[in-house]
Amino acid sequence: MFNLQNLLRKNIKELIPYSSARDEFKGEASVYLDANENSYGSPLNESFNRYPDPLQFKVKKRLSEIKGVPPQNIFLGNGSDEAIDILFRAFCNPGSDNVITVPPTYGMYEVSANINDVEVRKIKLKTDFQPNMEGIAEAIDEHTKIIFICSPNNPTGNSINRDDIETILANFNGLVVIDEAYINYSRQKTFIQELTEYSNLVVLQTLSKAWGLAGLRIGMAFASEEIIEIFNKVKPPYNINEASQALALQALQNVEQVNNWIKETVAEREKLKLELNTLESVLTIYPSDANFILVKTIQPKEIYQFMVNKGIIVRDRSKVELCEGCLRITIGTPHENELLIEAFKNFEELNKI
Ligand SMILES: *Cc1c(COP(=O)(O)O)cnc(C)c1O
Repeated sequence: MFNLQNLLRKNIKELIPYSSARDEFKGEASVYLDANENSYGSPLNESFNRYPDPLQFKVKKRLSEIKGVPPQNIFLGNGSDEAIDILFRAFCNPGSDNVITVPPTYGMYEVSANINDVEVRKIKLKTDFQPNMEGIAEAIDEHTKIIFICSPNNPTGNSINRDDIETILANFNGLVVIDEAYINYSRQKTFIQELTEYSNLVVLQTLSKAWGLAGLRIGMAFASEEIIEIFNKVKPPYNINEASQALALQALQNVEQVNNWIKETVAEREKLKLELNTLESVLTIYPSDANFILVKTIQPKEIYQFMVNKGIIVRDRSKVELCEGCLRITIGTPHENELLIEAFKNFEELNKI
C-alpha cells in the first residue's frame, strides 16, 4: 500500500517550516511594516519593493484554468529542476535510500541524486527505447523511494508506453515521477488527469519548452494535495520571484500563440525528418514526440564539429549508451532548419559522401 507519511524522511515529517511575513498576514492592508522591505519604493517603480506571493496564487489560478487541475494540486518551482531536487530532499534519506531511472534519459535526476547522496539504480531502456519492466521490478526494494519516467523522453524523443507507466503506477508503493517537459508536442495524452486515480503520481511540466519561457525559470509539479503540501513545506519561501510571476501571468494569456508554435514546430519536425532522410550521412531518424529529433549519423563527432564551425550547435549524444552515433537536434525555425540541412550537404560534399 502507498503511504505518503511512511515515505517521507523523518526530519521532513517533523519539520516546522519557515513562516514568512506574507504567510502570517494574508489579507489586504494599506500599511505594510511587517517584512523590513523598503517602504519608499524600488528603482523599478513597480511592486518590486515587496516580497512576492510565496504560493503564487494568481499564476496557479491561471494554470488551473489552462490545465484543468485545481490550484491546490499545483506546485511551482524555480524550473522543474527545483521540483526534482525537493523530491530528493523530502523523500530520500542520504546514504540509504535509492531511486530508479531508465536511461538514456534526462540528466538532472542523476545529478540531483548525487548531490543528495542518493543511490541511482539505472535500468536501461530496451533497444526500442521502452522500459525493461522486469528489470525495474527486480531493482525495487524497501529503500526505493522514486521512479523517474520521462515521456516524451529526452534525448530519445519517443513517448513511453502508457500501459507500462500505468503498471508501474499501480504496483509501485513509492512515488512515480512522470516528466512531461515535452508533452505539448506529443500525440500521447498527459497524465495530469490521472491524479485522482493514483496517489503516488507526480507529473512534471515546465514553461521552458513549448511556452518559450526558459529564461523565467518556472517548472510545474502536479500531484495530490498531500504531496503538494510537502513541496510547499520544503521549498524556499520565495522561490518564484515577482518578475517571473508577473511575466508568467502575462504570458499565460497567450495560449493561442503557443498552440500555433506547437503546430508549426510539429510540422517543421516532420519536414526536417523527410529532408534528413535523403542524406547519405544520416543512418537512422528515431520517431519523435518532442521538439527535437535523435539522429544516428556517420562520423557524428566530425559532423558536430563541422556544424560548430558554421555556428550551428546541436547536441552530441554519440557517447551516450543506446544513442551511439547520435546527434540530438532541436527543431528550429524554417530558416534555421534550412541552414542545418545545407550544412549537412556541405559536409557530405567536402567529405565525398
Ligand atoms: C528541458 C527539460 C526540463 C525543463 O527543466 P526546467 O528546469 O523547467 O527548465 C525538464 N525535464 C526534461 C526532460 C527536460 O528536457
